[in-house]
This record gives sequence, structure tokens and C-alpha cells, in this order.
Amino acid sequence: MQKWAIGVFASVDAGLGVHLDVAKELGIHTVQVHTPHKESRNEAAAKAFLQRCKDADITITCLFGGFEGESYADIATTARTVGLVPEATRASRAAEMKEISDFAKLLGCNTIGMHIGFVPEKGSASYNSLIAVTRDLLDHVKNNGQNMHLETGQETADHLLEFMHDVGRDNLFINFDPANMILYGTGDPIEALKKVGHLVRSIHCKDAKWAAPDQRGKGWGTEVALGDGDVGMENYLRTLQSVGYTGPLTIEREIAHDRERQKADIGQAVRLLESLRTKLLRT
Ligand code: MG
Repeated sequence: MQKWAIGVFASVDAGLGVHLDVAKELGIHTVQVHTPHKESRNEAAAKAFLQRCKDADITITCLFGGFEGESYADIATTARTVGLVPEATRASRAAEMKEISDFAKLLGCNTIGMHIGFVPEKGSASYNSLIAVTRDLLDHVKNNGQNMHLETGQETADHLLEFMHDVGRDNLFINFDPANMILYGTGDPIEALKKVGHLVRSIHCKDAKWAAPDQRGKGWGTEVALGDGDVGMENYLRTLQSVGYTGPLTIEREIAHDRERQKADIGQAVRLLESLRTKLLRT
């Protein structure tokens, strides 16, 4: 695969992300895919989707898990509902994540990704049980010949590193999303990337503006079109270069309610990334 191939976050059946046709239309050849609903996770659906990818010369680089009942309405709701952290659904979601790993295998994809949720404080009972569940999941994922990437943003870089170290499995890596660090108010994304860069195996190209200082970590920042926010795309790509990242640049634009604007913004992002790539990879 080309170094820093352009990618986009896409979906099989109306979940998060753009439809495959949009990727095709914009000339994008790699996608991360949001997992389809349970009823579509079967061999026939995998085969059909793979054929559509093949026809458009698109490679699936990561299958992202997600669950019924998750809500990103505000930060407190996200903490309560997202990932494997909520204890009432932890076991059933871990089991479902194994099914998602099996579906990724049907797609010939060796990477799954997820928001694990707001990792609890080290040493708490919830933290210890989350570690046990994550290890068990990662062993299943490993048996499928896969790695799992954790999306960044819901905790600081240091807390994420601590958690990954305590899990202690060699198939756990990071999907770095700089905008999430800003949206959740969990730290400067460039400084965070320097800290966790050795574990980054996939990334999102997404941009955001910080919430007002007294609101950081309490209220959302604002997601904006790539290049219009506080990440600083050139600095972001330079930092990725310095940590040795060569994988796809996967554009994510989370405005599924406005498909026209989403497509226009992704087109703008492709042009920005292509021009920065030309500038930075010139030797
Ligand atoms: Mg993301």
C-alpha cells in the first residue's frame, strides 16, 4: 500500500461513516468500516461488501466495533454508555466484539478497532475487571490473526499507556484521533501523539475546536472540516512522520445528518491531505 494512502471512515449499512459510493466517487482507495448491524454480519453480507470494494479498488484497513445503546450526546452520556466500560453490558459487548472480530476475518481484515470507553481509575475493581475482559477479547482476536486498535480521546495519553501496559498483550495498539483529544478536552493532541506514537497503527484525520477553557472536559469542543480546527494538520502530519507512521490517513467527518456537506468536507480534506503529503514526503 502507498505510504499515507488516503482513506475514509465508511459504513456497510447506514451506521456511522460515509457510504462506499462516496469513497468511490472521491477516488479514495482505503476505508475503515463501521461494523454493520448484527443481522448483516454473515458470510453472504461479507462477500457482497467485499465484491463492492473490489469493484471500486478499495481496501478495508480496519473494522470498527460499535454497540446498541451507545450515545455520544454529551460527555457524561458518552462515559455512561460507550464501549466495554459500562459494567451492566460489559460481558455481552465483549462477546459481541468477538463476533465483530469473526466478521472482520470474513472480510479478510486483520485489524479491528473500538472505543473501549472512559477507562476507570487504575486499581479500582472496575479497572481490574476491564483488564481481564480486554485480555480475553484480545486472545480471541489473536486467534483470528488480528490486532485491535483503541480509539483515543476519552482518556489522557498517560492513562491510555498505563492501561495498555497493564493489559499486557502484544496485539493491542492505538487508532489515534487528534480531534477527539480536543473534543473531550483530554490534552494537546500533538503532545499526546509524541507520547503514544510507538503504539499508533492507524489514525483518523479529523479536526475540532476546543471548548471554552472553563468548559473543557465538561462540554464538547466542536468538530469542524479538516484544516479549519485547532489540530494543525501540517504539524499533525509532521509529527506522524517523526514517529514513523506510514499507514493510511483515514478521514473522518461525523456529520451523518448532513450527507451533502459531509461529502463536500471530505473532498476538501482529500485535497488538503494530498497537498500536505506531496510537500512532506518530498525528499
Ligand atoms: Mg475517530
